[in-house]
Amino acid sequence: MFKLLTKFHSRVTRLLLHFNIGVRLLALIGLAASVAVALASVGIFGLAASKESLRSVYEDRMAPVQQLSEIAKLMLSNRLLLQAALSEVGFGEGGARPAELVMNGPLALQTADAIEKNIATIGGLWRIYRSSALAPAERRLADRFALSRGVFVSQALQPAVAALRAGNYAEAKALATRARTLYEKAAPDLQALNQLQFDAAHQAYSDGVRRYENTYAIALGALSAAILVMSWLGLVLTMSIVKPLKLAIAIFKKIANGQYDTTIAIEGRDEISKVMLAVREMQARLGEDEVAIHQLAFYDPLTKLPNRRLLRDRLQRALSLSTRNHMFGAVLMIDLDNFKSINDTRGHHVGDLLLAEVALRIQACVRQSDTVARLGGDEFIVMLVDLSPDEVVAALLAEEIGEKILAVIAQPFMLENKRHHSSGSMGLCLFMGQNASIDDLLKRADISMYQAKNSGRNAFRFYDPHIQASLETRIALESELRNAMAGKQLKLYYQIQIDKLAGALGAEVLLRWEHPVQGMVLPDQFIPIAEESGLILAIGEWVLRSACEQLRSWAGNPATEKFLLSVNVSASQFRQADFVAVVSRILSQTGVNPARLKLELTESMVLHNVVDTIDKMKALNRLGISFSMDDFGTGNSSLSQLTNLPIQQLKIDRSFVRNIPDNHSDAVIVQTIIGMACNLGLAVIAEGVETEQQRDCLERFGCPTYQGYLYGKPMPLHEFEILATQLIAV
Ligand code: C2E
Ligand code: CA
Ligand code: CA
Repeated sequence: MFKLLTKFHSRVTRLLLHFNIGVRLLALIGLAASVAVALASVGIFGLAASKESLRSVYEDRMAPVQQLSEIAKLMLSNRLLLQAALSEVGFGEGGARPAELVMNGPLALQTADAIEKNIATIGGLWRIYRSSALAPAERRLADRFALSRGVFVSQALQPAVAALRAGNYAEAKALATRARTLYEKAAPDLQALNQLQFDAAHQAYSDGVRRYENTYAIALGALSAAILVMSWLGLVLTMSIVKPLKLAIAIFKKIANGQYDTTIAIEGRDEISKVMLAVREMQARLGEDEVAIHQLAFYDPLTKLPNRRLLRDRLQRALSLSTRNHMFGAVLMIDLDNFKSINDTRGHHVGDLLLAEVALRIQACVRQSDTVARLGGDEFIVMLVDLSPDEVVAALLAEEIGEKILAVIAQPFMLENKRHHSSGSMGLCLFMGQNASIDDLLKRADISMYQAKNSGRNAFRFYDPHIQASLETRIALESELRNAMAGKQLKLYYQIQIDKLAGALGAEVLLRWEHPVQGMVLPDQFIPIAEESGLILAIGEWVLRSACEQLRSWAGNPATEKFLLSVNVSASQFRQADFVAVVSRILSQTGVNPARLKLELTESMVLHNVVDTIDKMKALNRLGISFSMDDFGTGNSSLSQLTNLPIQQLKIDRSFVRNIPDNHSDAVIVQTIIGMACNLGLAVIAEGVETEQQRDCLERFGCPTYQGYLYGKPMPLHEFEILATQLIAV
């Protein structure tokens, strides 16, 4: 029922929207007036009916009642008159016998007249009564009464009148007796008639009262219903005006706030709908204008690239972002060499074509998140974000993109069917956090761009001489690293791993570069270069092969045959599609027992492509190789991810080990890792153990194996063999 009402309500609301507000209001007022008229009519007719009922009580019913009672009174009076006349008698002259009794003459005549007059009056009244409409039962009763009254008159009264006039006492007396008898016979009918009239009058009165009550109830009901319906209609009407108005206000507010994409639904055809239609058009036009204004204000009309203003805005954001994520970004300023000459020789419109084409080419060299802007003339700025947390790596990446840009600018252009050769000079500077303002950055890029121009065209320069220098050493290192393997400059060092009883378990294999000039270069310095240049694949394979060869050479000797070697695997190495095949080939070529080999992976590596990682790890597990999760605790892996991985050992990162004796939260982390390893059935080893104190804590927390300077630094093979065999001897 309620559902039905709601449906009806919303239908009416929707219907209303198709009519103008004026029409709606007029309709409501018209309806209200009609209801009022209908109510008044019900009242008037009802009251008229009640009045009619009451009138009939008096006029139609009370008159016959009166007539009948008058008749009854007169009939009684006739009988009494006769009686009275007979009671006034005297004795006649002839003696005292009753027959000789003499009536009072004048009184007898008087009585006779009175009776006659009464009879006439009764006759008159009776005629009036009979002329009124009577019900059949009443008519039958009336007929019977008329008969008995006729007998009463003709057989008693009229002879009695004659006897009175004749002074015949005896006869008059006899007739009086008769009159009484006949009267008593007629009287009950008259009384019954009277009663009937009374009953009818009472009925008419009750009808009147009932009608009045009915009218009252109908009027009250109709009034309540009308109030209800009119209130509901008024509500619907009000809502049909107020709701769209509120919506309109909300939309106006949005437009005022510069939001032009609100969907404006128009349901009806009334005045508000028309207003909303106009607003919709206005919104669309404002939106277009806004886009045009924005385009003009923030973009270069020629190349459609962001202009200086938008660049500043993006730079500001990039600076704030880099403060948060600690990633270096770079600003590259590019200036076309000899741009003036193309303008002078082939006209400005060809110069414009060149600029537009350069803009397209530069944009193709960068990512979506980077910004290419034109500052005016032939000056372009490229803003690179999120390069790397490492300054040198960031510089390398920026340099790579910069070179790419210079290369695409140096490609020939076809401008109006003529080839044109161009080149550019580029200045680069890095940024991170708020270490420089936007103006500083633009100035630095500008200065280095001029340095590049001065050094000969088609070149780039870093602003920071220190970066420039490290970049150069890095480039040099990269080319030297290519030769390092061939020149046997790469060496494996071994860092001992110890169990609780200080017995040697084996070692982690760590790479060293014995540089002919720089001396010992640590892996942190050259592994990133090896990774960027792809050299890591060959290097990694060499490390793995060397480790396996070492295991094989230990195999026959009971003192060393139980040693395990842990080998670090780099991300790009592990991600190679043929990694499993490479490892398996090395194993079969060296014939080493795979159970002696452990591969160290980091959390970020394994979480990169979990499905592929798990497949590879399982395949290697099947070969008999086990895995250790290196630097554990520094990544973001969750416990659930960890349980899916087929690893056999967790290696607690040295940053936690360093602080366990005095940093409570690090101690808690280490305890958690150990507990977790225990629950998952994994082995656990702590790296970077430098002091007895650290080792005691670790032992107390339940960590059974250790690696760190406390037992030995990474060392060349023969030193490691001495150390390890000594420990075994102990
Ligand atoms: P890692 O795998 O975490 O290796 C442990 C590093 O901690 C080694 O540095 C080791 O010398 C150092 N270390 C060991 N005990 C202690 C200690 O008690 N205190 C301190 N402060 N340091 C200790 P290293 O040899 O410089 O290696 C640095 C990183 O280079 C390694 O970190 C590993 O990620 C990478 N690396 C080394 N060799 C290779 C390799 O053959 N292949 C690949 N892909 N990466 C390697
Ligand atoms: Ca390691
Ligand atoms: Ca480590």
